[in-house]
Parts: sequence; C-alpha cells; structure tokens
Amino acid sequence: MLRSIMGEEVHILGAGLSGLAAATILAKSDREVHVYEVRHDSGARFDGDFQGIENWTSEMDFFDELEEWGLNSKEFKSDSFGIVDLIHPDDVITKPETDGVAFRVVERGTADHTIDQGFKRMAIESGVKIHYGVRKSPEECDIVAAGPKESSAVAFGEIFETSHQNLVAFQLNDKLAPGAYSYMIIIDGIGLICTCLWRKQKKSGRYLNETIAWYERNYELDRKPIKRVGGKGDFGVPTKYVSDGRYYVGEAGGLQDFMWGFGMRYAITSGVLAAKSILGECDYEREVRNRLLPLVKASAINRFLLNRVGDRGFKLVANYWMRDQRKKGDGLAFMKWLYQPGILRRALWPLTRIGMLRKNKLGDGRIVYRMPFRKSLKRDDWEQSLEAEIVGNQWKSIQKSGGSLSFTESED
Ligand SMILES: Cc1cc2nc3c(=O)[nH]c(=O)nc-3n(C[C@H](O)[C@H](O)[C@H](O)COP(=O)(O)OP(=O)(O)OC[C@H]3O[C@@H](n4cnc5c(N)ncnc54)[C@H](O)[C@@H]3O)c2cc1C
Repeated sequence: MLRSIMGEEVHILGAGLSGLAAATILAKSDREVHVYEVRHDSGARFDGDFQGIENWTSEMDFFDELEEWGLNSKEFKSDSFGIVDLIHPDDVITKPETDGVAFRVVERGTADHTIDQGFKRMAIESGVKIHYGVRKSPEECDIVAAGPKESSAVAFGEIFETSHQNLVAFQLNDKLAPGAYSYMIIIDGIGLICTCLWRKQKKSGRYLNETIAWYERNYELDRKPIKRVGGKGDFGVPTKYVSDGRYYVGEAGGLQDFMWGFGMRYAITSGVLAAKSILGECDYEREVRNRLLPLVKASAINRFLLNRVGDRGFKLVANYWMRDQRKKGDGLAFMKWLYQPGILRRALWPLTRIGMLRKNKLGDGRIVYRMPFRKSLKRDDWEQSLEAEIVGNQWKSIQKSGGSLSFTESED
C-alpha cells in the first residue's frame, strides 16, 4: 500500500498541470512527492496545440497568483492578448478589447517552451520524483489528478504554417461548431484552427474541414497543414472533492469550465489548493466550494442557456457583448459578468442540474452530476462545401506522407 498522507510521502496520480502544480507546492515544503504518469511525458496528451489561459474569473491577474504561490510563469512561453476577433454567426467580425491582459496563449505538449514542460521543470527542481510510463489506480494515491474520463464534448484542430500575423479569433457558430464555438490562434507563424463539438457527431472531421474552409475564405492564411490534434472535455460536478481521504483536482475533480472548456486555470488552482490543504494551510473542500464551485456552476448555467439556442441566440450574445463594450469601454467586463453568480443565475442552478446534468455513481462510490455528450440535431446534417472537400483531401494526402493525428475518441 503506497498511501501515506499522514507521513512524509505524497503520491499523485497524473503529471498534467493539476498534478504537477500540487507536487511542486508540496515538494517546496519538503514533502517527498511521487507523481505517476501513464504517458511517456508531461504534455503528451497534447501535441503542440495552443490553448488560452483566461484572466477574467478573478480580479487578480492569474500570473500574479502563480507568483504568489511560488510558481514561475517565465518557465514557459506565453503571449498576452487584450483583443480578440469575435466572429458572429452571420460572419460579421467585431473586436472586443481591454487595456489589460484578457487571456494568454500557451503551447501544450512536450517541447521545452510548453506550459507542460515548464511545470515539469518546476516540479523536478523542487525535488518531485515523476515516474513516467506507470499506470496507477486512484486508490493508490493521495491526490487524483488524472484528467478527463468521459467525453462531454470534443475539440478537433489543425496546426499549420502561415504567413499571417499573430491573432486570436473566436467564432460563435452553431453549424461549424455544433452548440459551441470555433477558434483560430496564430503565434509566430504557426496557426491552429479548432472546432468544438458540444453535440456528438458522426464523421466529425467534416466540421473541421468546413471550419478551416471558412477561415481561409475570411483571412489571408497561406496555410500549410502540419498535423491534426484534439481531445475531449469531461464536465461534471461531484458532490465531494475530498473522498475517502483522496483529493480530486483538475478535470478529474470536475473542475472545468462548462461554457468554453477553459480548464487550465482550474487545474492549476485546484492542484495548489489541494497541496496547501495537505500542508495544513487550508481546507480543500471548503476552498473549492467557496472559490471554484461558484464559477463552475455559473459556467454550467451559462452552458445550459446556450444549449437552448442556435445561431440566433449566439448572435444575441455577440451583439450584447459589443453593446456592453461600448457602454463600459471594456470588452472584458462582459466575460467577467458571465461568471458572476448573481441571484438570477443562482436561481437557475436547480433547473440546470435537472435539465442538463445526469447523476452518475462512480466505481469509488462518489456521486457526480455529469453533462452527457448531447445527441446531434437535424440541423447538424448539411452538405459539405467544395472548399471543405478540398481541405479534407489535402489533409488526407498530408496524412499519407506522415502528417500525424494525435487524437482518437477512445483515448484514455
Ligand atoms: C483540444 C483541447 C483544447 C483545450 N483548450 C483549452 C484552452 O484553450 N484553455 C483552457 O484553459 N483549457 C483548455 N482545455 C482544457 C485543459 O486542457 C484541461 O482542462 C487541463 O489540461 C486539465 O488538466 P488536468 O491536470 O486536470 O488533466 P490532464 O492534463 O489530462 O492530466 C492528467 C494526466 O493524468 C494521466 N493519467 C490518467 N490516468 C492515469 C493513470 N491511471 N495512471 C497514471 N497516469 C494517468 C494522463 O495521462 C494525463 O497526463 C482544452 C482541452 C482540449 C482537449
């Protein structure tokens, strides 16, 4: 039996961001920490894709928070943005902007400059022992940081070379991204176009092909595909965050953003809080309930409302966002407002739980209210455009000559 939370050793399942954040804080306080990771390296779940770390769920800048926790944001490359191209469902492009940092883009994967390798370096420098290629069960560990288990939604993307300048575009479009959004991120000559499917589809590749065709029509991309990437998101609210003495952090603990899938900040924050709780500095269950759960619930309520609308609803959201920016002079104010658990939003929680989430009893006895992967709708069935077919064929020929696809839905 490995578990020894009362002694010096701490055992952590998963060397993703949540596990490594927890491990680093604990090792800095002289705990002996072992992290077990089934993959060959941290970040291997991803493959060079860009992800955004949001800066709107608290008043404090997230990088200042990291510094306060003793985590060094200079260990990985990040690019700050105060502006985004907001693409409305009718193809109008507007620009929400703020004076400060709205979000930062980081790269995921196993290259030196990725956030995953940055967190791995911090952990190792603090004395953490990471055991790669080792599968453990939750029962053998004190902190469960094993990431998503089920699929509530998936995202597919293509990474490409481009001559376009740095840019982040965010598109609300129920056809190209059923129930969700697509995005394009370009950093230093490398682009990622990604579509998120919040409704399960057969032949999901056609959504990515059509989305890429859309961006090619609307931006001068000069696109040269490199590889395709993707993954799943698991959205669920458990009834407990500490169960049987084990701490559930990151996506394994249901700490994910139901609205847009911005899980990195929750992963790191929950890892830090679990470590501090083990060190006797706080009570993890209470901290999560006070600090993170209200945000998760607000995001779930927003998702519940979004699930009821198609493009007409998305258009209302995009227009409201821009009106709000004109009124307040700050495009970030709308995003902050979306996560405020006001009286009206809180009143919608019981309805959200009944209408959108399903009660699951997990093997270890924990109860989780999960968002199932929703069924496709009639309107999701449409004819592919000629341009999208060309994009698809181009990808097939690149794949034949070695282009990699890092994702299958049956992963993990
Ligand atoms: C395509 C895609 C795009 C995304 N974009 C964004 C974004 O723009 N912004 C954002 O904030 N978030 C984004 N997310 C979500 C974000 O990546 C995750 O929420 C976050 O990485 C979760 O971190 P974690 O530490 O909880 O889990 P993970 O990063 O999944 O780490 C868990 C680790 O545990 C390991 N593991 C699992 N089971 C075992 C076992 N039995 N034994 C040993 N090891 C095990 C896994 O191999 C994995 O490495 C995206 C996710 C996807 C899939």
